[in-house]
Amino acid sequence: MSQTAHPPQILLGHHLKALRLPVFLREHAKVAAQCAADKVDYGGFLLRLSELELLERERKGAERRIRAAQFPAPKTLEAFDFLAAPGVNKKQILELIRCEWIDKRENLIFLGNPGTGKTHLAVALGAAACQRGYNVRFLTAAALVNALAEARDERALLRLQARLAKIQLLIVDELGYVPFAKTGAELLFEAFSQRYERGSVLVTSNLPFEEWTAVFGSERLTGALLDRLTHRAHIAPIEGQSYRLAQRRRNPPSKGDKQPENIMQPVGET
Ligand code: ADP
Ligand code: MG
Repeated sequence: MSQTAHPPQILLGHHLKALRLPVFLREHAKVAAQCAADKVDYGGFLLRLSELELLERERKGAERRIRAAQFPAPKTLEAFDFLAAPGVNKKQILELIRCEWIDKRENLIFLGNPGTGKTHLAVALGAAACQRGYNVRFLTAAALVNALAEARDERALLRLQARLAKIQLLIVDELGYVPFAKTGAELLFEAFSQRYERGSVLVTSNLPFEEWTAVFGSERLTGALLDRLTHRAHIAPIEGQSYRLAQRRRNPPSKGDKQPENIMQPVGET
């Protein structure tokens, strides 16, 4: 059958699919009716449809980037209670969520005690970066070191490093909970060095910089690492008491209540 034998609607459907314009396909009849009612001309009709298509494309892109980032749990800035966290500089966080530092390939370091909201804020900032079109990956420091060590053992380190190089914001959570073996420390150092001024790193740690040597083992390595990491970096102290602990004090489980499982976990475990 020749193409012209198709009714125009079917042909239009084929073309819009071939052009990958699913919103045009789904919405054109409805938007056409609205435009007729609003006396909007062809140009206006096309504008409305393309805006809808663009919005959907952006939304899907953000969803895809958020999935790819592999955040441990969805967290937003709206859900962060700044009143409960007087040790957090709200103005600084609101500035950082605009993501200009990621454009400038600067780093961000959250330092503070366990349970104070470091991971929460890191995820919220990471998700905001995904919304703005940046590629993000969230890993704990231990997971990153494991992935690097495994890749090296399988002679796939270059491939992993190339993948990491495409990430515009690498979030390394919980640096300091587990000290690294010598090779692990060296691999992490290399990963940070490769990003230096090429891509942003967001690190969260429960340890002040003075104690990072205990994590990396070597004073020389730690010095070189801190030198790169903190050059062009925003340091955000996340001070205060554990939010989890405060919540439990506010809502203690009444006697006879079945205790939630995580109540037995030591504070600070995520
Ligand atoms: P950290 O990473 O500093 O150990 P988390 O970010 O994991 O702490 O916070 C512990 C828990 O408390 C999380 O469920 C987090 O969402 C919540 N939380 C911490 N601070 C706040 C806050 N100021 N407002 C709302 N939730 C908070
Ligand atoms: Mg945490």
